[in-house]
Amino acid sequence: MSHQLIKFAAYGLLFVLGLGLTHTLTQEQLLEQNKERTARHASALKDYIQSEFGRYSTIVAFLSESTLVQQALKSAQEGNVADRYLSDVQQASGASDIYLLNAEGTVVASSNSHLPHSYKGNNFAFRPYFDRAMAGETVIDFALGQRSMRRGFYFSKAVDFVGGGRGVIALKVNASKFETDKARLDTGEKSHFALLDVNEVVLLSDNPDWQLRASKALSAKKQQQVAQSQQFLGQAINPLDWRWLSDQPQFDSQPSGQLITKQRRYLVSSSTLADTSYRLLMLSPIVPFNEVHAARLGLAMLLLLLLIVLIEYLSVKVAGYRQLLFSQRSLEEQVQERTQELEQAQDALIRATKLATIGQLSASVNHEINQPLSAMSAYVAACKRLLMRAEPDKAMENLQLIEQLIRRVHAIAAQLKSFSQKRPVKMQRISLQQSVQNALLVVGPELKKHHVSVQESGLEVPVWVDPYQFEQVLVNLLSNACQAMEHAQDKWLRLEASSKEGKVYLSIIDNGPGIDQHALSTIFEPFYTTKSEHGLGLGLSISKQIIESFQGNLSAHNHHDGGAEFLLSLHQQEPQL
Ligand code: ADP
Repeated sequence: MSHQLIKFAAYGLLFVLGLGLTHTLTQEQLLEQNKERTARHASALKDYIQSEFGRYSTIVAFLSESTLVQQALKSAQEGNVADRYLSDVQQASGASDIYLLNAEGTVVASSNSHLPHSYKGNNFAFRPYFDRAMAGETVIDFALGQRSMRRGFYFSKAVDFVGGGRGVIALKVNASKFETDKARLDTGEKSHFALLDVNEVVLLSDNPDWQLRASKALSAKKQQQVAQSQQFLGQAINPLDWRWLSDQPQFDSQPSGQLITKQRRYLVSSSTLADTSYRLLMLSPIVPFNEVHAARLGLAMLLLLLLIVLIEYLSVKVAGYRQLLFSQRSLEEQVQERTQELEQAQDALIRATKLATIGQLSASVNHEINQPLSAMSAYVAACKRLLMRAEPDKAMENLQLIEQLIRRVHAIAAQLKSFSQKRPVKMQRISLQQSVQNALLVVGPELKKHHVSVQESGLEVPVWVDPYQFEQVLVNLLSNACQAMEHAQDKWLRLEASSKEGKVYLSIIDNGPGIDQHALSTIFEPFYTTKSEHGLGLGLSISKQIIESFQGNLSAHNHHDGGAEFLLSLHQQEPQL
């Protein structure tokens, strides 16, 4: 796979992951908000139903204490009076019917006595709320109306008639009242509620499809119990199409969960109504995608695109920078390589110059060595004769002279060797006088050969140099001077030194023809020479480099006496930078 393709695949992945993450996070956040909202709505509805239940229970309790109601248990006459009273209370309270049952369960007074479907005379002894109230319980029960088939809540309580006898006051409220009242509460447009009894049967719900159906299939035993209670008048209770995605919310331990119906998915909040066994479920639809999602995904898309552009921009920059670093490094390497090569070439040149100088001087050096050797042979012959003549004292004198000559030859050989050898540079403080002496050992024979007189002054000063390199410079300058004076009448050389403020100035002045004015600026350039034979034209350029490496200076002038003057400036000790 090409590099470009991998890059595009990575960007694609980043894009998809980014959008996926945004979607998931938004969904989680919206779900949290939804949970909170649903719990709030559930609590509002629960408060409302509880307060209504409380209100009707209070009315029933109040009626059970009413003398008028109690009297009605005594005679039909009193019952008629109670009819009107109960009708007034019914209208004022919003209940659908209020009626009084005697000890046999027969209705003796009823709020609907004046209507065609009057309960008066009917017997409701089979209703559980009757038995339970007769037993002294304050009852809230749910049942279907026998004739109306309407769902309703029955609030009942025993009525005790002074002087013996007990009856039951019952108040019925149509279930639809709560369902329509829900619409008035601000519990969310698309949300629904369901009030479940202990058997999970939906008694109340603003969704008509859910009414009188079980949130889960009833067991056979439960079905039998429900049928026996006549609570639903034998009506079959079918299970709802609810499928719980979580554990079904339990009473208060797990107040929320999720379920899915054929139409949609709901978030469910569950709570128990106080003083009853009813459970209230509030269901809010979970929307998989809405405008908040769309807006956030749009924003995420924009940010991801910006991020990709930024990454692309930075990677181009980084690539450029790396290329730059790379080329800089390779340049540095090249420079290092070249420097090394140059240093080697320079070393070779220095050696070549030295050898050339030795070559130029070899004749006179030969002479300088041959001369003592010849002298030594003469002394040896003389020694022999003196010994034969038994004159040992004189022979001893000759032997001492021979010894001196041997020392001199040694010194010349050693100086030549050290001059031609390659040595590591080692700066030190040495005597200028000593350096000049060493140089003269090499170049002295040549000067002598050409009858050059050498004058020295002020050389007793220290200089901070590498001794071997410095001697090479002196040999160069002295032998150049000697060569320049080849045709001069009176050949002399002056070496004059002076010191000032830690510096030493050495002038080497000859009596030659001097340097051509136009050549003054070029003589230090490599390969500039006026010598047709043996001249390399490197001596001065290397000498200048050497002196500069001592942080000194070498310059050339013409002396007012006529000859050339080479001026060296040197430090007396290591300069403090
Ligand atoms: P080379 O001696 O091989 O020519 P140098 O670099 O030592 O190389 O000298 C360069 C040139 O400078 C010489 O060829 C000569 O022309 C000039 N030169 C050097 N020393 C003197 C001097 N003392 N007097 C006059 N000319 C000189």
